[in-house]
Amino acid sequence: MINMFAFLKSMLSANCPLCRHPLQVEHTRLCSIKSCPKGHYTEETYSHLGVSVVYDGME
Ligand SMILES: [Zn+2]
Repeated sequence: MINMFAFLKSMLSANCPLCRHPLQVEHTRLCSIKSCPKGHYTEETYSHLGVSVVYDGME
């Protein structure tokens, strides 16, 4: 049986794939940006375009 709650929780609570720190969320006029405060990971979501751009593995 699929645990939907755990699945949804993993979708909603984003953590840095490197250090597991919760990602900071920032909303700009063009996109919303989720990023690790230590700069490991950045995800830009352009909802009007349906596009996400991910920068990860940044040291
Ligand atoms: Zn990190």
